[in-house]
Amino acid sequence: MDPYQAERERMVAYQIASKGVKDEKVLAAMRKVPRHRFVSEDAQAYAYVDSPVRIGKGQTISQPYIVALMTELLGVQPEHRVLDVGTGSGYQAAILGELAAEVHSIERHPELAETARATLEALGYKNIQVHVGDGTEGYAPAAPYNRIIVAAAAPSVPQALLDQLSEGGRLVIPVGSRYSQQLEVWVRRGDQYQQSSNIPVVFVPLIGKQGWQG
Ligand code: SAH
Repeated sequence: MDPYQAERERMVAYQIASKGVKDEKVLAAMRKVPRHRFVSEDAQAYAYVDSPVRIGKGQTISQPYIVALMTELLGVQPEHRVLDVGTGSGYQAAILGELAAEVHSIERHPELAETARATLEALGYKNIQVHVGDGTEGYAPAAPYNRIIVAAAAPSVPQALLDQLSEGGRLVIPVGSRYSQQLEVWVRRGDQYQQSSNIPVVFVPLIGKQGWQG
């Protein structure tokens, strides 16, 4: 048995379920995905603590609670195609891979994308594809998406992401200044978009054409 299983059970009980995340499928995915495999050897001891963990290139893997909260807000169904912007370590992509039919994950740093791809392959995920590019422009070749999740903070919602949502599709994205943001949920109804939910969060910047400039 995975020696980290007990740590994951504790993580879910004390950091996630206790803070209000209820979706059983999300909790099951958080119990299953080996988070320690997504951090470097020297950070293994921190993999299951209640905070973000450094993954190189000045980037972080989000705090477990935030991953669970965003995934719950996303409302993924088994038949969904999902776009994950900001692959980072690939951990969020793996959680999505447990819940959706198909996941496309896009990362601007080629080295991070390569490491994430290797980790996901070693863990046997066949329904996740990692792409290198500017995710503020979405990922057109596989659009439209039932769900889009963004793990970096945007100054405003990139139009390309709204455009790449399918009918009834949902986008979860942190929007705000460089140092503090609100988690926003957008739902597409025809050509209209409804926005809800404003939860204060702090993310690294989304850098790109429709994000922050460098
Ligand atoms: N979801 C990740 C955490 C990512 S941190 C995980 O589970 O580990 C945010 C990531 O977004 C960083 O890796 C950063 O390089 C990436 N990023 C920032 N701007 C981007 C853009 N325009 N397109 C794609 N990735 C971007």
